Amino acid sequence: MTPLDAASATAPRPARTGWLAPLLLLALLPTPAVAQPSRPVAIRADRLVVGDGTQIVNPVVLVQGERITAVGTAAQVRIPEGATVVDLAGHTLLPGFIDAHTHLTSIDNDGGDLAALKETPAHGAIYATINARKTLEAGFTTVREAGSLGYVDVAVRDAITRGLIPGPRIHASGPALGTTGGHADVNGWSPFLSLPGTGAIVDGADAVRKQVRLNVKYGADQIKIVATGGILSVGDAVGAPQMTDEELRAAVSEAARLGRKVMAHAHAGAGLLGAVRAGVASIEHGSLVDAEAAAEMKQRGTYLVPTLIILEEIVKDGARKGVPPYAVQKATAIAAERRQRLRAAFQAGVPFALGTDATSDIHGRNGEEFQYMVEILGATPMQAITIGTLNAAKLLGVDQELGTVAAGKLADLVAVAGNPLEDARRLATTAFVMKGGVIAKGPEPRRAPR
Ligand SMILES: [Zn+2]
Repeated sequence: MTPLDAASATAPRPARTGWLAPLLLLALLPTPAVAQPSRPVAIRADRLVVGDGTQIVNPVVLVQGERITAVGTAAQVRIPEGATVVDLAGHTLLPGFIDAHTHLTSIDNDGGDLAALKETPAHGAIYATINARKTLEAGFTTVREAGSLGYVDVAVRDAITRGLIPGPRIHASGPALGTTGGHADVNGWSPFLSLPGTGAIVDGADAVRKQVRLNVKYGADQIKIVATGGILSVGDAVGAPQMTDEELRAAVSEAARLGRKVMAHAHAGAGLLGAVRAGVASIEHGSLVDAEAAAEMKQRGTYLVPTLIILEEIVKDGARKGVPPYAVQKATAIAAERRQRLRAAFQAGVPFALGTDATSDIHGRNGEEFQYMVEILGATPMQAITIGTLNAAKLLGVDQELGTVAAGKLADLVAVAGNPLEDARRLATTAFVMKGGVIAKGPEPRRAPR
């Protein structure tokens, strides 16, 4: 990490009241007492993909501290004297990418549910520390964690915010809410064993409300629920409804009361439609979304987070990567229909947001999802980029600050070689990553000639 902005020391906290206050304040003030304005950074590239479907050729982006102060063509934006210049000739500049579905606390597939029997949240914290750096260096400056036992995602989020470890901005969920015997439970074992779920096991609307309150109490930014069966769980059909309509509504209304959105794991059928009608912000996976649900999602503005890479990889390579045979079988059985249904939903106008379901070796390869969106959904590279920037920012409720490259927004920027509008595969390899004005990966800047 290259701190470009060492001079912009954080202001001292308001001191406690009493006669000591002025003295404390003086002692805490940085020297010199007048804060130096940080040196502006000017970034040049061949083109800028703004994130809203537009582009600028020969752009200059000015950054001051953690924010973007000007965006335009080289003819429009004057590089201030003494500015630090990052020259990205031959590259395309983009907004920081956003992955709306990650599992930073997971490092391998390890037999699906079995990880819950062998590991503790401490393992998850170590894995997340490793994965957070990989994810940031892949250009993903913001992620939404999709469920984490022991509030590990909250702890890792806070460690990154404090600058203790490198990583993306994290929107934490805490434990996902699921039902007894459902996708978030650990199934197939003797009833005489007491086993933890992979999430919080809640039955009935009151239990759901209580868990939503607990998650918010302990730091969740959004609520993750499990509305239907899944791929990696034992003994449940992929599209089987698992939460009742009453439980779904309880989750959404309690979350809304506390100012949180709900993301719902749902692959198909009545459980998916019920989650949409209950008012969730996004359907995760949506593998076998049908025309009725797609119409409802389009009308309500419910996002679909298709997590294409994870299913495609399980089908192609799951056996080698240690995915249990039942899960490879489940994924393979729906693969062809899934591609067709997700494409139909995209073409019907359902809003999409990028999410990978990153686990195992997908951490750091999140950018490969762009090409899958081109191949499977029929998106143009420009549409795929918007899905992975502005759309995802809207879903996370941070589009005022992130999601496009615009003056006033946070300086989260990525550069890739060549032109990704001609080949979305280029988005999988970054040459430069900046988060909040700090370079996380890329060329050292130089001082502009006077
Ligand atoms: Zn997931």
